[in-house]
Parts: sequence; structure tokens; C-alpha cells
Amino acid sequence: MTRALLLVDLQNDFMPGGALAVREGDLVVPTANLLEPRFDLVIATQDWHPPNHGSFASNHPGAKPGDLGELGGLPQVYWPDHCVQGTHGSWFHRDVELNGVTIFRKGTDPGIDSYSAIFDNGHRKATGLGDFLLARGVRETVILGLATDYCVKFTVLDARGLGLDVIVVEDGCRGVELIPGDSDRAFEAMRATGARIVRSSEL
Ligand SMILES: [Zn+2]
Repeated sequence: MTRALLLVDLQNDFMPGGALAVREGDLVVPTANLLEPRFDLVIATQDWHPPNHGSFASNHPGAKPGDLGELGGLPQVYWPDHCVQGTHGSWFHRDVELNGVTIFRKGTDPGIDSYSAIFDNGHRKATGLGDFLLARGVRETVILGLATDYCVKFTVLDARGLGLDVIVVEDGCRGVELIPGDSDRAFEAMRATGARIVRSSEL
């Protein structure tokens, strides 16, 4: 059975000091590097927004980061500008091992956000990752990264939707926690779809 390791958004803007910093986000990088050699197929996703992306509060007059608004007909949390294509913040944390890793980008359409690395938030367009996995006979994906309560969660839900077995590495994830408890609720939502939540030491 082919297994793939999926590293979600291990980018500078989601690390401490970044534009959309996730607390302790950098602490998951060693876990990613530790697991990589155990997989034949490793994929890193990259949030990759144009400057006019509609998820940015700065592109909505009067809005501030954390506000709830609308984008592409869907409810949308407005974020600080982050992961703007080609900026330092959009690149991977310097310690992430990228040798032999396949990169999939998301969030390139200014009119809709894409938390999941597989489909945009409206399930209107695919990133290509789902077909890529299925074409390689991947049956199981092991997923970790940032942030638990957004991009990890929705990537897991979409992977389950494609019929993939999913293992989420709990200690390889950290959350934004706009509301305290969001990460725990996200793990519950993932578990409810049949994803297994494990510690890296159990793998
Ligand atoms: Zn984003």
C-alpha cells in the first residue's frame, strides 16, 4: 500500500514572528523532518496568495483581521495579509527538509479561499493534489502541519471525502485558536469522518 506524508503550510508567515503566526508553529518542523525519510512520497502544501486575495482584511474597507465576512458567496474569516506569492512569508520555514518533496500550491484565486490542499472552500476547483495521490495509488495519507483548526482540518476532511485513509499526527499540528478550544473541536471533526489521530511516537 502506498502511503504519502502531507505537510500542510509549514511557511514562515505561520511561524512565530510571521504575519499569521501560529503559537509554537515552529515546533512541528522537527516532527516533519523526522517522519519524511519513512515515506516514499512526501508532499508539502503552500498557501500562495496574490496581493489582492479576498481573504485579506486589507482588501475589504473597514474590515480588520479576525472579522467574519464573506468571500465567493461563503462565510470568510478575514486574515492579515499572509503568504503573498514570492515573499519571505510565503516560503517554507528554513529548517523544513524539501529535498525530493513535491509542492502543491493553493489559494491562488483572489475570489475564494482554500484552506484545504485538495479543493477550494467552495469545492469549485481542485488543486490537483487529489488526482495526484489517486494516480499514484496512494491509499493512506499521514497529515501534519498548520493550522490544526483551518488548513489541516479541511485537508483531512477532503482526503476522507476522496476515500483515503487518513492519520493525523497530533503533535505535528498547532492551531490558530481564534476561539480557545478550536483545535480540540477540529480534531473531533476529523475523528468524526474516520480519521485517526495519533502521536508521532505511535507511527
Ligand atoms: Zn491563506
